[in-house]
Amino acid sequence: MEKRDILSCSLQELESYFTQNGHPKFRAKQVFRWLHVDRVRDFEKMTNLSAQLRAQLDENFYITSLKIKKRLVSDLDNTVKYLYGLSDGEYIESVLMHYHYGNSLCISTQVGCKMGCRFCASTIAGYVRNLRPSEILEQIYMAEQDSGQAVSTVVLMGIGEPLDNFDHVLRFLDLLSSPEGHQMSLRHVTISTCGLVDKIYELAEKKLGITLTVSLHAPNDEIRSASMPVNRKWNIDQVLAACKYYAEKTGRRVSFEYALIRNVNDKEEHARQLLTRLKGMLCHVNLIPVNEVAERKSLYRTAPQANVRRFQEILQSGGINTTVRRTLGADINAACGQLRREEAGRERGCMLDENCGNHGYRIVT
Ligand code: SAH
Repeated sequence: MEKRDILSCSLQELESYFTQNGHPKFRAKQVFRWLHVDRVRDFEKMTNLSAQLRAQLDENFYITSLKIKKRLVSDLDNTVKYLYGLSDGEYIESVLMHYHYGNSLCISTQVGCKMGCRFCASTIAGYVRNLRPSEILEQIYMAEQDSGQAVSTVVLMGIGEPLDNFDHVLRFLDLLSSPEGHQMSLRHVTISTCGLVDKIYELAEKKLGITLTVSLHAPNDEIRSASMPVNRKWNIDQVLAACKYYAEKTGRRVSFEYALIRNVNDKEEHARQLLTRLKGMLCHVNLIPVNEVAERKSLYRTAPQANVRRFQEILQSGGINTTVRRTLGADINAACGQLRREEAGRERGCMLDENCGNHGYRIVT
């Protein structure tokens, strides 16, 4: 019999396992707490279980753990970038950022990505597999253990498309917010999507209280389709309709990511087009000067500061709440490309993306 991933199991699943195997139901809670509160990674350490039960668990389950392969700490602001190794030799990364309100962790949901956004470095390496709920969760547990600090907000903006790994992400959210586990309020969790419209509707129905962020990056379909293949399946009108539905259904305002790319989407006319589309909507726009990806440098260059400011002014004057990100951990961001190249050269199929996500950025108004 194949061993099961116990860290991905819900409390209810563990309860069924114990009752079906002739053990009292409360054992499930004990084991769940060992895993999610005490964070032991060895059944032998679950000292309130009999040796026989520990051996049985070891026979039927395995406990997921990640290895910190590299840790880059910014000299500028103590941002920490983790390169985690998975049990099958793949890599993912997380970034721990310190803010006045607490620590925020940006985590990955897949090894690589299928979405193919042209400005995003993870496109170049392609897609390998979904992360299991335990592997998504363990990024948080490891960062907390390593830093000795609690993570108070989590953003699913690392490698991968969270809504393309929908079921595992939902289970991850369930585990993260479990009253017997980490107990994180889902109000402190943000999911970023490139715009998988069917899943946005599905997520809205769940009314989880999470913040939804949509990577828009263009004011019209022509520009968006040229850099984001997903737009050929669901265009901007369809994405915005889904976002309106999400906001109505959940009462949460939706955020839009807009990476400003020189001569592509950074002109005044683009800001005005975007304003027309978003006017009256319960939303927020994050402007990001695009991170230049070495392989795409000739196509996607960072927009000039003046264009970023002008873009923000136009949106703000139209009543759209707009922030601009500035880099955080700029020194380790630069080193990150090297990290990936080194690891990818050494080991098969490394999917580390050096520029994807919000890594190294924080929001400032
Ligand atoms: N797949 C999800 C989440 C991961 S990407 C999504 O698309 O939202 C996280 C964010 O980083 C997205 O907004 C993505 O468009 C953005 N991004 C990717 N590459 C970037 C780059 N080179 N510069 C700036 N932002 C980038």
